[in-house]
Amino acid sequence: MNNYQPTIGLEIHAELKTRTKMFCDSANDPNEKLPNVNVCPICLGHPGTLPTINKQAIINVLRVGLALGGQLTERLEFDRKNYFYPDLPKGYQISQYKNPLVAGGTLNGVAITRVHLEEDTARSIHNDDGGGSLIDFNRAGVPLLELVTEPVISSAKQAGDFAREFQLLLRYLGASAANMEKGEMRVEANVSVRLKTENEKENEKFGVKVEVKNLNSFRAVERAIDYEVKRQIKMLEAGKPVIQETRGWDENKGKTFSQRQKESAHDYRYFPEPDLPPVQIGAVPEFNNLAGTIPELPWQKRKRLTQLGFLQKQDVEQIVNDFALAELFDQVAVALEKSELVKTAANFILNDIAGQRRKKPDWPLPTSAHLAEVIRRYQAGEIASPQAKSSLLSGVITKVAKTESLSDLVSKIIADNLKVVADFRAGKQAALQYLIGQGMKESKGTANPKILEDLFKKKC
Ligand code: ADP
Ligand code: MG
Repeated sequence: MNNYQPTIGLEIHAELKTRTKMFCDSANDPNEKLPNVNVCPICLGHPGTLPTINKQAIINVLRVGLALGGQLTERLEFDRKNYFYPDLPKGYQISQYKNPLVAGGTLNGVAITRVHLEEDTARSIHNDDGGGSLIDFNRAGVPLLELVTEPVISSAKQAGDFAREFQLLLRYLGASAANMEKGEMRVEANVSVRLKTENEKENEKFGVKVEVKNLNSFRAVERAIDYEVKRQIKMLEAGKPVIQETRGWDENKGKTFSQRQKESAHDYRYFPEPDLPPVQIGAVPEFNNLAGTIPELPWQKRKRLTQLGFLQKQDVEQIVNDFALAELFDQVAVALEKSELVKTAANFILNDIAGQRRKKPDWPLPTSAHLAEVIRRYQAGEIASPQAKSSLLSGVITKVAKTESLSDLVSKIIADNLKVVADFRAGKQAALQYLIGQGMKESKGTANPKILEDLFKKKC
């Protein structure tokens, strides 16, 4: 098994977040449940209609290109990709073939071939109960980004990591909701294996590739690639050739299955789209100076948070992967300034706030001002941990009753233990531990020992 080298290249499609479709003013609404309402003669492919370019879609792809460090084209051009299928009302798809919007770039160390723009197809709904097939054209003509990587990925895990990072990037840029389960992001994996040889020259020859489709989750991407690598190796070991084809992924069986022999570019009879003359990017103000609109990117945020020094690797990941949490963390860090307070804030964000969000994804996060206020009171010993938590979860700043205040509790313990306090003042560390122990006991374990320690040191 180890004598074979897997090679993987990914093709990733993402539906772009725009108000209207790619070439008409029908709404681009992926959440519309009623079929065939967001349609017009243009996206239904009626004869005699003409497309107009959606600028926002172009801007989205150019920003993705900038974030990936790719080369942006100077001339916007579209091509026609001709094929017949019921979900393609015009009988062709407007895409980009010769001159993609973005060429090159890298993500997670993987070289990118191109990023281009095209239009999505309609959605086919196949009824297994003899009801035939239905087509919903709401999706027809929705702007679709396609990213193609070079065949330089060498494992299922690396492919999964790349796809996850790209999803995160799309979300950071607000370019796409990129939900794989909803089909807003779709990954196709091209997989081949080749025998490892001593001879370098021979080593550069790739094996025959298979394209795997219908991968609806990152797990499916990784499982399908693993399966396909093993299948191809088994074929070669048995002396049978791997056939170049498109295969589907059966989630339940955990297997890929043959769908069709792969068509090649000439089957599509690509030619320049005659209804859309080329546009000079430089001549459209909105397409220029986009670099200033790129936010801090996932890998930059990861690096910055790691450099703070007090977050574990998985904590950094948790913040980076949740844009809203990241925003809250950054805002509260600015509000609190002192790294000790920020560290406490991070704990509440990562445990309590993130935990609540997992339970209720729609739960509105506390504001940074609220969180900062709670942290200050907690750290000053005015409220204990359960009160801080319930205040964060309820969104209400707890009114602290006098007797509940840790500060008062500490004063009371001092008054009741004057002998111990005298010992502590004389330098006995064990006395301090005793006082903290009393504080924990009186607060029924809810106080933060570190805060008790600070308060005793201050008041004794
Ligand atoms: P096609 O014309 O069949 O679509 P492309 O050359 O456009 O093929 O490549 C499509 C995708 O397949 C790219 O992501 C590319 O990296 C990948 N790819 C190409 N050749 C191989 C190979 N031998 N093994 C694995 N992936 C490959
Ligand atoms: Mg292809």
